Amino acid sequence: MNTWDNIKTAQIAHDLVHRESDNGRIADFDPSCIYCVGDNKSRTRNYRNFLIYLTNHYQLTDVIDETNLTFEKLSRKLEVLIQESKEENNQKTAKSARKNAEEIFKTVRLSKIPKTSFNDMVSILIRVAYETNVFDKASNIEIAHQLAYQQVVKDGNYLELSKEETVT
Ligand SMILES: [Zn+2]
Repeated sequence: MNTWDNIKTAQIAHDLVHRESDNGRIADFDPSCIYCVGDNKSRTRNYRNFLIYLTNHYQLTDVIDETNLTFEKLSRKLEVLIQESKEENNQKTAKSARKNAEEIFKTVRLSKIPKTSFNDMVSILIRVAYETNVFDKASNIEIAHQLAYQQVVKDGNYLELSKEETVT
């Protein structure tokens, strides 16, 4: 089973617990569940661009506050990386940014399992965020995605940022 299948299976099982409890309180918890976690935090323009991107490419249906918070953490790390792109000691920040990107994909709901593997999507997201100044340059998002997709999925040629060992 790949990561996406695991995530989707957990979500379906969790939703079933809600349904069977007649909307009562449940002990089960799912990090992507809008009923368990909520979605009230205000959204920045960059975050809204990011959600449009996820909707267009990965059939996004729900996000939660945690997605928004993690996006902010990712933004701060990428801003550091963008500014210090010539320095070499940003490995730790890059690794941490990748962790945030993984967390983001564990807190969103997609209407179907993506064809792209979990790890590839994380790599693509990091690249697109990097190239668009964390979804600030809205007009660059599509082209950045096409390039990232080409490089990550077709060529398997990861950027330094995503070179970390990936475990499925
Ligand atoms: Zn729930």
